[in-house]
Amino acid sequence: MKIASQHAWKDKDYTPRHDWPGDTLVQWGGSGVVLGKNPYTTAFFEAFPDKDVTAAGGFIRGEGKTIAEAEDDAFARFKKETSCNHLWGREHYTNSGQLCRHCRAFRCNEVKPIVKLGSWRKPVEWYETCLMEIDNKYSRVLRLRAKFFGVTQRPDAPSPSA
Ligand SMILES: [Zn+2]
Repeated sequence: MKIASQHAWKDKDYTPRHDWPGDTLVQWGGSGVVLGKNPYTTAFFEAFPDKDVTAAGGFIRGEGKTIAEAEDDAFARFKKETSCNHLWGREHYTNSGQLCRHCRAFRCNEVKPIVKLGSWRKPVEWYETCLMEIDNKYSRVLRLRAKFFGVTQRPDAPSPSA
C-alpha cells in the first residue's frame, strides 16, 4: 500500500487498518462533502488498486461515520470486486465507462465512447446559447453547431474579443 502524500499533514493521525495489496494508493478524509441533490458530509476512504489486482483498475470509495468505518466499507467492496468474475456492461454510460453487473465495480477506457451520429448537425436550442460563452469541449462543439446554423453569437452577448 502507498499512502497519498497529503497525509503527511492532512488527517495524518489515521493509520489504515486493512492490508491493501501491492502498490494500491490510499487516501482518506474525516469530512468529505458529497455534492448532489442532497449534499452531505461523510468520512471517506478511497483506494486505487493496480489493474492486475482487481481486473478493473478503477477506484474504490467507502463512506462511513468515521474514517475507520469508511475504510471497512471500501475494503469490503474491494474484497467483493477482487473475488468477482466480472461481467462488464456500459449500462447508462456512453463515454468509456463500464459497470460490472455482479459487483458494480467501475472501470473505464476499455471501450470507446459511443458516438451519437448526426449530433453535430442538431440545431442549437435556445437554452444552449448561454453555454456558448463557456470554454470547454462541449461549448466548442456547440459553437460549431451554432455556426452551422448561422448563429454566430447570442444577441445580448458582447462581441468576441478574439
Ligand atoms: Zn464484478
